[in-house]
Amino acid sequence: MAESIWQQLDRMMAEYAKVKSLLRAVRGGRFRGRKPNGKWWVRFGTGRAAVDLVTDTPEELVRQAAAHRCGECGHKTLGHRLRTKDEVSCPGVSCTCKATQAEIIAKQSTTAWIAERAGLSKRELFRGVRGPSTTSDTQVTA
Ligand SMILES: [Zn+2]
Ligand SMILES: [Zn+2]
Repeated sequence: MAESIWQQLDRMMAEYAKVKSLLRAVRGGRFRGRKPNGKWWVRFGTGRAAVDLVTDTPEELVRQAAAHRCGECGHKTLGHRLRTKDEVSCPGVSCTCKATQAEIIAKQSTTAWIAERAGLSKRELFRGVRGPSTTSDTQVTA
């Protein structure tokens, strides 16, 4: 049986609210909702220093936002060294953090890391939130 427009709307509202709370849990910038083209959008910083992160699905948005800042020192992941051999990290500030960009992204974009921050189990984490494999509005699993 097809579900009503109201049930679909409820589900989309729930998804929206969950994405917002997950972004808050990982301190992943400010959630700006969806662009007119349907893409999901979060903004880091303000004014001219603002950085926009835009993805096709809300799950990707949460994963990428989670890895935007280093969980150890709080500086931008992009400021970290690319390899362990590189000298400088976190330009402009003194920082003893040893993590490289690749290490931060590999660790913080995982379901396990985000679930821990959000206080949810790995199974609960993206329930009702669309991922790259289910891009259609009609395929959300409750
Ligand atoms: Zn740092
Ligand atoms: Zn760091």
